[in-house]
Amino acid sequence: MTGPALPVRPGREALARLRSHLAVVLAVVTVVPLVTGVVLLGLIAPAQARSSAVGAAARDADAAAVALSGSCEAVRASARVAAGEVAAFATRNAEALDSGDGEGAVTTEAAQTFADRAAARRPGSAVAVYDDRAQLLAGAGPAQARATVVNIGVQSGTAGPSCWAGRAGSTGDAAGLAEVSPVQIIPAGSTTKIDVATVVMWLPLDRASLGALGARLGTSGQLSVLPARGQTVVLASSGDARARATLTRLLRNLPSTGAAGGTRGGLGFRLTDTGPGLPYRVLATREIGGGGLRLLGWSLLALALLALAPLWIVIVRLTRPVTDEIAAVGDEVQAGRMALADSLDRFGEALAHTHDLNELLATIAGTALSGTGAASAVIILATDESGEPSETNSLTSSVPGSVPGSRSQGPADRRSAERAGDARGARPLGERLSVRSETGRPDPEGDQARAVLPAFAEQHFAELIENSQNQQVFSEPQLVDVPGAGPVAAIGIGVDALPVESPAERGPARRRLIGVLAVARGEGARPFDALHLTRLRALAGQAGAAITNVRRYLEVRRLSMTDPLTGLGNRAQLVSSLSREIAAAGRGNGVLTVLMLDIDHFKMVNDTWGHGFGDIVLHDFAARLLACVREADTVARYGGEEFVVLLRDTDADGGCRVAERVLQAARSRPFEDADIRQQVTVSIGVAAYPRDGRTADDVLQAADSALYAAKRDGRNRWRVAEPSHNAPILPVSG
Ligand code: GH3
Ligand code: MG
Ligand code: MG
Repeated sequence: MTGPALPVRPGREALARLRSHLAVVLAVVTVVPLVTGVVLLGLIAPAQARSSAVGAAARDADAAAVALSGSCEAVRASARVAAGEVAAFATRNAEALDSGDGEGAVTTEAAQTFADRAAARRPGSAVAVYDDRAQLLAGAGPAQARATVVNIGVQSGTAGPSCWAGRAGSTGDAAGLAEVSPVQIIPAGSTTKIDVATVVMWLPLDRASLGALGARLGTSGQLSVLPARGQTVVLASSGDARARATLTRLLRNLPSTGAAGGTRGGLGFRLTDTGPGLPYRVLATREIGGGGLRLLGWSLLALALLALAPLWIVIVRLTRPVTDEIAAVGDEVQAGRMALADSLDRFGEALAHTHDLNELLATIAGTALSGTGAASAVIILATDESGEPSETNSLTSSVPGSVPGSRSQGPADRRSAERAGDARGARPLGERLSVRSETGRPDPEGDQARAVLPAFAEQHFAELIENSQNQQVFSEPQLVDVPGAGPVAAIGIGVDALPVESPAERGPARRRLIGVLAVARGEGARPFDALHLTRLRALAGQAGAAITNVRRYLEVRRLSMTDPLTGLGNRAQLVSSLSREIAAAGRGNGVLTVLMLDIDHFKMVNDTWGHGFGDIVLHDFAARLLACVREADTVARYGGEEFVVLLRDTDADGGCRVAERVLQAARSRPFEDADIRQQVTVSIGVAAYPRDGRTADDVLQAADSALYAAKRDGRNRWRVAEPSHNAPILPVSG
């Protein structure tokens, strides 16, 4: 069995596709910047900031070391120039004084002049001039620097090393560049140089000068000067007090000589020697900023957040067609439900109001067709076991009752049995099936499907019968692809089996298979979907009960119109048939003739032989009557010992010939039972439509009058209706 295949809705596919596209867009627009930003902020930016701070500090330190060496050379040169100027003055003055040993050659005023001039040439520096006995002659420059330069002169006494550094008395640690330059002259008449004075120049390395150096180098960091060896302390720094406090922490554990570099306490730093001749190391520091990448990281995060709003709009825009489609699918499902409800309503209506099996089956087939979008629908039923009246059963041969003894078998039954070959049970399945309803779309696919579907349904029904113990098999739709019919769904039509009287015998509700409902969608069509199958299941579930109800109704009606003694139709059936036939004849300008028969002296038969024999006469007479007419004619027991024969397409003359035949049949041999033999005759009145009447009542009345005439004329004869009874022949409309 094939399970119902649920086709994937195109809307869902599109939604899935769109979702993956949106996921990509989402990733690109938000997730990528978000992740990049976080990575930049968390990993790359700090590392990059550290290394760039260290690199910048190294560049600062190298540049500062070179600059300090240059400054040292400049201080030396300045001091020597000043010493040269003082020497020139002293030479001139010694000649003027004629002082052979240069005594008093350098005056205080001259010393002051040259000291001022030298200090002015190098801003920030201090200059001191001593005489040959190390007495201070003059000092120039900023006060603090001047104090230091005086100390240097006191300490050195004589020319000392260039670019001196060291402690400067009570002023504490100080660093600077110093030059002590002797002033020498060669007195007139002498060839020996003599010292007449000393010029000391001092350029302090302090916050101001280092700040100026930093500005010249264009650094944003801090420059500091440390001793080349010994203690690791800051002698001077360009930073303020807070910056110096940071430096104190930085200096911990740094080597006391040589270079070092790295990051510490939020600073990148480089400690480097100033080079030969200078007793300092330069420490350059840069704050670890990493601003660029960090800014980029934050920008990306902000971008990702900002992208959310437009992204939301994009998503709404993009998903609108899909949500519309989903809504449309929802509407379609809703419409499908409504259609199903409507179908079931119409079906229920038909169920409640139709007593015509063909009409009911046409409704079921039509509902199946519209409910499943099929091209063709077919209903196959097993011929009703109870045998349906032939007039509702035009597509199938009627079958005798299958419950022997349930009612007496009259001549009418026997005739049907003869027609059906009386091969109950042994008949092949095909004879027990009837194609009860076919319908289809009026297109080539519908026609093609209709051509092959009944055969498939019959074969399927045969298979279901083999399996009919298995209710599951027939109450679920079977899906098959049938060449010519395309996708076919077939489902058994079942009815509840007869209820079991004793509760002890009552098992699980059982259903009996009575037919098959098959629908085909047509060659090349899509398969049935779940909704179609649900509808088919519902329809098949209702169909069984509805069909059975109609069949029961028809059976009851048939019984109510049948005479139990002879098996012929009764008066009600005769009147109904006659009315119908007159209407049909009226439409087609046709004719029909009625024979009304009454057994002669029947009271006497009863009186002589008893009611039992009377019944036998009635039963056998009915059989002889049936044998005298065609299958298409109707024979009914009108009441008591009166019968009526309805002859279709027969005029009065034809009716008279049949009447004659009936007379002969009655006379031909006696009626008998065991030791009774009784000759019986019959009188017959003949009347025709439209000759003798235009309604059932009129025609019957005319026949009755003719019958009366036959009786009056001596019985055992037929009489045709008198002209006085003839109705005027009027044109028949419709
Ligand atoms: P006539 O020739 O004038 O028709 O005389 P008749 O005796 O046939 O007419 P009548 O109407 O006097 O008698 C009809 C009898 O038929 C009366 C009734 O008992 C009998 N009868 C009616 N129905 C049945 C039946 O079902 N079985 C039997 N055995 N007799 C019946
Ligand atoms: Mg009578
Ligand atoms: Mg009679």
